[in-house]
Amino acid sequence: MISIAQDLQEIKLKKLEDKIKIEKMWMGRVPPDRLFEKRFKYLNFVRRIYPELELQSEFLDGRRTKLYPYDSFDYYVELHAPAVHYRVIPNEIVIDLDEGDVKTNLIRIIDTLNKLNAKYFLGHSGNRGYHIHVFLAPPNGDASELAEAKGCKKLSQTVFEWILEMAKVDVADVDQKIMFSKNHTIRSFYSLNLKGKKFKTMAKTDRGIWVVPSALWNRFLEMVKDSMELESFEEEIKKYNNSVRRRNGRLRPCIQNAIKRIGKEELDHKTRVAIVTEMYHNGYSIEDIVNVFRNSPDFDENITRYQVEHITGKLGKVYKPFRCSTLKKIGVCDLSCSPKSKGAT
Ligand SMILES: [Zn+2]
Repeated sequence: MISIAQDLQEIKLKKLEDKIKIEKMWMGRVPPDRLFEKRFKYLNFVRRIYPELELQSEFLDGRRTKLYPYDSFDYYVELHAPAVHYRVIPNEIVIDLDEGDVKTNLIRIIDTLNKLNAKYFLGHSGNRGYHIHVFLAPPNGDASELAEAKGCKKLSQTVFEWILEMAKVDVADVDQKIMFSKNHTIRSFYSLNLKGKKFKTMAKTDRGIWVVPSALWNRFLEMVKDSMELESFEEEIKKYNNSVRRRNGRLRPCIQNAIKRIGKEELDHKTRVAIVTEMYHNGYSIEDIVNVFRNSPDFDENITRYQVEHITGKLGKVYKPFRCSTLKKIGVCDLSCSPKSKGAT
């Protein structure tokens, strides 16, 4: 049996040979070192969510190493192997489009994600298709905690299917193996596609972790519950509901002040929208939000409910909380909020 140390030694040599070949191959067209650094940065992002991240290097002759825990690699291996694959992490959704009408499917999925205000990573695979990566986080925003939770993989699979359904994309056009077979790996961004001879690149979209708004989150949990034998998931649901409640009360000071003004004066439309988005993204229910406006001098339950539902996505678009700098322009914030609480998401 080859020890990790010996194996790493061999890998380092192989990498060095490949690095020279790659540089020749891409001479004057792409700066490989910059791509490798970007890859390292991306993998570090994934690892911060899931420290158990496992990597596998692939060389120009197609040979691949075993899966290694990230930490046993040093930064050496992932930096200069032509391609690095990593094991899809539990709270990650990967949508691989390379069958059927790729462009139409891509537009539909991106459109759906944008309507949901979801963050995601979009990349060209380096051959024919596109890869979309979505990292889920519960309404309290703790993606790492979610990744560790029992049943998380099932949740990701459920949300994956739900997104395809929402986008009206035929499941046959999407690679299901990535989500449904155990230990499946995916090529990291900025890794070479040996067939297409291009690197997997990342588009400048709304990148990051998708903190799912609480109403949608509860729906997801219900869906998972229905399709799951695991009784323990009940406990997971409780845990997340509790963390949602913990998050309540974390509203920025300027929004808290705006809420205090509700009973005393008639707030303008933008201020109301600011309150609704902030509360919604901090885990308050529609009911909680409507109740906050009850003291308003011109309160009308139906109108308020309609507006709250509209802002929180009933018609498809979920509005984001305003930044303090935007709130300053409408006279809600004096920018004395702590720098950490610029946005709720
Ligand atoms: Zn503020």
